[in-house]
Parts: sequence; structure tokens; C-alpha cells
Amino acid sequence: MDTSESVSKLMAKSISKEINVTKVDLPPLDEYIMYLKEIWSNGWITNNGKFVQLLEKELEKYLNVKNLLIVSNGTLALQIALKSLEINGEVITTPLTFAATTNAIIWENLTPVFADIDSKTYNIDPRDIEKKINNNTSAILAVHVYGNPCYVDEIKEIADDNNLKLIYDAAHAFGVEYKDKSVLDYGDISTISFHATKIFNTVEGGAIIVKDKNLIKKIKLLRNHGIKSEEQVVLPGTNAKMNELQAAIGLCNLKDVNNNIMLRKNIYSYYKEKLGDLKGLKFQKISASSYNYSYMPVCFQNSIDRDKVYSELYKNGINSRKYFYPLTVDFDYFKNKDHAEYNLKTASDVVNKILCLPIYPNLNITEINRIIAIIERTLKT
Ligand SMILES: *Cc1c(COP(=O)(O)O)cnc(C)c1O
Repeated sequence: MDTSESVSKLMAKSISKEINVTKVDLPPLDEYIMYLKEIWSNGWITNNGKFVQLLEKELEKYLNVKNLLIVSNGTLALQIALKSLEINGEVITTPLTFAATTNAIIWENLTPVFADIDSKTYNIDPRDIEKKINNNTSAILAVHVYGNPCYVDEIKEIADDNNLKLIYDAAHAFGVEYKDKSVLDYGDISTISFHATKIFNTVEGGAIIVKDKNLIKKIKLLRNHGIKSEEQVVLPGTNAKMNELQAAIGLCNLKDVNNNIMLRKNIYSYYKEKLGDLKGLKFQKISASSYNYSYMPVCFQNSIDRDKVYSELYKNGINSRKYFYPLTVDFDYFKNKDHAEYNLKTASDVVNKILCLPIYPNLNITEINRIIAIIERTLKT
């Protein structure tokens, strides 16, 4: 296939009428071009440029947090978090998450130990964290899954009592508040992702929010090869720098976030209202005082219903997602290992029943009604 042929095939695909679980937010092009003009005239495109620094300030303001450091993606944010806190041995974590949470632990030569989730919030169950602690445990890496805050007060108490470091993978929790305070304020470190599929994006990107100011210097070194000065490399760092072109996308997108969250909220409430009475269907119990509506997870009565709905939607050009199936503990690279020892009863149950429905700001009411009608029809047969 020559290039023009493959390009036109790609274009045909992108203008098809498929509905995906999410849709990327792109800023108005002329607004972005204003930033590009400035980048061109500065001749500075990466290495902690002025737009990265500006975006850090703007994000601290928007999210109401201190000590926010931008990195190139949410996965490196996790790795740098683990590295900067000098974690070793075992890390207690959740299996109901995106691959990056577990992979980052393994990438840092640490051992993930899986705790079960709570059946209402789908977040890690503090009682099971306690059961999994032993002499090798050095940290807890919890996830605010679908942006819903963990049991942060209980988990903090467990971490303090057992002298464990506490990291939150807050990849989904942009703008979320718990008890009227940013959820990113909890733990020693929170990390966030600005990947294209997340509700605030910089194409690829992420950030680290750190409680202890003394760690800022170290994290800055870790994200830039450990280079302290022209002739001094003081740490075996990595390259986790964001560039100016992506920071500019972020500065543009930040202006629309509030409006987008409001539109998402309307869709979320509409789904809940219309699907609320369907047999056995359950919604995540939201513990946030201010939520971002980044996902629309629904939990069916059983896996047969879930799989039927998934296929019916798919046949109609609607791509829902079984996030986060399979559990990370079931990834192929663990396969020679029996994970019965972890006793993940609730996580194993929920992961077979859950489905994330399409939700994004300009998903229109006709499309939503079509999705709802397909679900209703499927559950009746
Ligand atoms: C998206 C995501 C990440 C990783 O973020 P990237 O920016 O894609 O590297 C980490 N954890 C969770 C839970 C995520 O959903």
C-alpha cells in the first residue's frame, strides 16, 4: 500500500460514525498557533522552557496544590515517585487499574502485592491493605480509580502506623476534591496523567505533586538525567521532560476544563437517571465532594449481561470499554504464578461485570439515547 492510500484509509476511519469511550479535547487551532508563533520566535522547544514553567504555575492554581512538577507522562511520574522516595521490597497496590500502575512498580524492581477492592467505590480496601503488610512492605500505591477518591483518611492512618510511604496514582483524578480539598494533597506523592484520553491533556504528559518540599530538587534532577550543572551529574536520572509544544496544548486546554467537566456532569447524570432502574445495574459510589466525571462505569448483574451489552454496542458502532479488564494481576507476564494467595474476591467479581460507557463533552443526546436504548433492549432479551 502506498502512503497516500494508507493515509486516505486512515482518514476514512477517523471520519466514520463510530462512537468511542472517549474523544480527545483539542484546543481551537488559531489559539494554539499563537503559542506556536511565540515558540518559533523564542527558538526554545524543550528543557524546562517558559511554557512548561507557566503551565506548572497555572496547574498549581487550578488544582489548588503546591509543589507540582510536570513530567513527560503519567507512567514516568509513577516511576520517579517510587524512585524519589527510595522504596524497596514490596508495594501494596490495587489490581483494578491501568497497566501502568503495576508496570511502574515492576520497572522499579519492586514487588507488587495486591490488595482487594471495596465493592462500592471500586478502590483499594483499607482492611485488606492491613492484612497484606509484612516486614518487606515499604509503600502503598493506591489508585483513585475512575477519579473517585480512595479511603484516604483510613489509608493515611495505616501508612503512618506502619511507617510506610504512601503514593496515589491520581491519573484519573484531575480536579477532584475530597472533603473540599484537592485529592492530590493526600499521600507523600500524588501522580497524574495528561495523556490524550484523560480529561485534561497535553497529548502525552503528567505531573508529580509532592508534599515534602525537600524532595523537589531531587525530583527535578530525576526528570533531567540527574544533571545538576554543566559538569555535574549527581543521580542516575531519566528523561521525563515535557516539551514546549505540548505545554502550549496544555495552556490552551486548561481554559476549557471547567466547561468540559460541566458537560460531562450532565451526561453522567442523564445516564444515571435513565439506567438507574434497570435490573441489577449499579453505579460507582462517589466519595468526592467535587468530582470530574471522567468515566462512566456501570456494573452489571453478571458477566453475561456485561458481555452481551458490550457486543451489542460494538455491533452498533459504539466502543465501550471493559476498564480495567483483565486485573493487572492476571497479565500474561504473571501467568506462571497462582494469585489465589491474594484472595481478590471482590476485584475478580467486579472486573467481570464492569463496563465504561462513552462519555465526553460533545457526545450528543441522540447518541446517548441510542446507547441507553441498546442497553435496555439487550437486558430485556
Ligand atoms: C493513564 C494512566 C496512567 C499512565 O499515564 P500515561 O500518561 O499514559 O503514562 C497511570 N495510571 C493510570 C491509572 C492511568 O489510567
